[in-house]
Amino acid sequence: MNGKRFPLSREQLEALSRRFPTPFYLYDEEGIRENARRILRAFACFPSYKEHFAVKALPNPFILKILAAEGFGADCSSYPELLLADMAGIQGEDLMFTSNETPALEYQKARSLGAVVNLDDFTHIDYLEKQAGIPKLISCRYNPGPLKGGNAIIGKPEEAKYGFTREQLFQGYALLRDKGAERFALHTMVASNELREEYHIETARILFVLAAEIKEKLGITLEFINTGGGVGIPYRPGEAAVDYASLAAGIRHAYDAILQPAGLGNLGLRTEWGRTVTGPYGWLVCRAVHRKRIYREYIGLDACMADLMRPGLYGAYHHITIPGKEDDPATETCDVAGSLCENNDKFAIQRKLPKIAVAAEGGTGDFVVIHDVGAHGRAMGFNYNGKLRCGELLLRPGGSVIQIRRPETPEDYFATLEQETFKDFLP
Ligand SMILES: *Cc1c(COP(=O)(O)O)cnc(C)c1O
Repeated sequence: MNGKRFPLSREQLEALSRRFPTPFYLYDEEGIRENARRILRAFACFPSYKEHFAVKALPNPFILKILAAEGFGADCSSYPELLLADMAGIQGEDLMFTSNETPALEYQKARSLGAVVNLDDFTHIDYLEKQAGIPKLISCRYNPGPLKGGNAIIGKPEEAKYGFTREQLFQGYALLRDKGAERFALHTMVASNELREEYHIETARILFVLAAEIKEKLGITLEFINTGGGVGIPYRPGEAAVDYASLAAGIRHAYDAILQPAGLGNLGLRTEWGRTVTGPYGWLVCRAVHRKRIYREYIGLDACMADLMRPGLYGAYHHITIPGKEDDPATETCDVAGSLCENNDKFAIQRKLPKIAVAAEGGTGDFVVIHDVGAHGRAMGFNYNGKLRCGELLLRPGGSVIQIRRPETPEDYFATLEQETFKDFLP
């Protein structure tokens, strides 16, 4: 066994695939709920803690509603994401709106839902005032620049397009106060898929020090800080997950050391995690269709990069298991490929796997389960090459399965084409 869990047996999958043909995403509600509770328990040591789930990681209102029931808010960055959160009943200050290069319409929508607007730039203060008005509660996003070391996916902060510089931040809060803002928050987001606890503690420490300086220099007592997202998950079987309790204790230690002496012992803490909330509780379930032997051996699946692009885009590792063959020796080395006309459409490269049965050689073919796709999985999909994205299923706590998004059809693909205009075009 490799330590990577999949909640259904091969027999249960066979039955499920008769109702819902592969490929499909499967999410585990119970796993998500238990994880949400672990997060809230760990961070209950802060005066007011809120996790605003990053909607972009898994933009499905069923999931948002589950998380809202556990006490989570949402973090949105676009108009449709605001609609999704609203649909799931997440409104007002439970909504963070962390956008950048923001169109006026999106600020207006965020304001109309009472979301906490998190400004990405100093110039957006005037823009927001003109387009939607300055709210009483406002947050600013800080880019610590060279103060903070880089991270593999997100890169170096000083090369990132996001946030205010330090100087702009002080000017920004003063200007916002002049324009009528009364409650203030501070945000940063400097990591992606970061497993090192110390990296996240350091991020919080930078914000705590800044909060103390803002109080000292401007006389502004921040209401909360938001340390953003970026907590990693163990994609590879040998990796260890971030221990929430230990992370919270580390942040609490910095909190006591920096904020208590500064008279900020009531500062709230917020996060906008995505990946670590749902990532490990989603699987892409496919069938092996073809085997091909040229200079390498390939296993061809019924899913492709349109369904999951992280391996093709980042070279990301996603663990693969074959239900029913979990304990078989990994005797074959192959590339696991999708059907896109792009050579980087590979879910795994030179991966050691058990001998896989493919449908083209008779039978239905083995199931191929791709792990840890519950965040930034289907959400990143696309329609290039006329590929239609697969649907999403939810495994309920009692063991029943419901479809929460159907697979796309050719009609969906054609829905945005001007078919009426086309009838008279070049007759
Ligand atoms: C993507 C994103 C998140 C979530 O990041 P994870 O790595 O999924 O935790 C949170 N906040 C902002 C502003 C983001 O862009």
